Amino acid sequence: MHEIVNGWRRIIQAWLYPPTCVLCGDPGSEDRDLCSPCSAALPVRRRGCSRCGANLSVERDVVCGRCQQHPPFFDATFALFDYEEPVRHLIRGLKFHRRYAYGRLLGGLLAEHMASHPEHRPELIIPVPLHPVRYRERGFNQTAEIARELWRQLGIPVDAETVCRVRSTTAQAGLSADERRTNIRHAFRLVRPCPQRHVALLDDVVTTGATVNELAKLLKNSGVERVDVWCCARADRSSPGG
Ligand SMILES: [Zn+2]
Ligand SMILES: [Zn+2]
Repeated sequence: MHEIVNGWRRIIQAWLYPPTCVLCGDPGSEDRDLCSPCSAALPVRRRGCSRCGANLSVERDVVCGRCQQHPPFFDATFALFDYEEPVRHLIRGLKFHRRYAYGRLLGGLLAEHMASHPEHRPELIIPVPLHPVRYRERGFNQTAEIARELWRQLGIPVDAETVCRVRSTTAQAGLSADERRTNIRHAFRLVRPCPQRHVALLDDVVTTGATVNELAKLLKNSGVERVDVWCCARADRSSPGG
């Protein structure tokens, strides 16, 4: 029944609001607000370090030297795009200008990518939480918007309540890797136990991984066996990311 209602909803929506490319205004393709040429031009990320997603000069599925020396608390990173235009425009448009259509698009593209890796399907998705003060200022959590689309398309439960942000940190952009780690330390708290064994942390942009590592530490220490990181874009250290 759910499927039928969903099917009808899609047909009516497509008739009322035909998909339109958010980048160029042409008709969208495959029910998305993105046309085929714009889709083909997106900066799809090459597979880097399987653990942290850092760029590597080799294409193979390897772990970078940094992760070998200081393994992060998370087990794997799945990054869809490089943090470059026009992905940067989409992420910033959602975050700072409430372009919810951008969130649906990014979530839909990430869902499609992760659907092709069913072996990595987690039991739960946890979007990186905002501090309550920041949440009140912004009125929404951009990562939770992306997570909503993942739930809709993949059916993986999303939980925005198990962890909360207890410390308001200065923006991570512009800080060195060491400063980011210090800045984010003890920023989160576990509100309730997490019974799931395999969890994916979702962030819009990952740069050094300091934020998701702090969250992964909390979850691992509470008994979660596997923590993956999913992100729409992976910024390299020189670029300004979150
Ligand atoms: Zn287009
Ligand atoms: Zn690595």
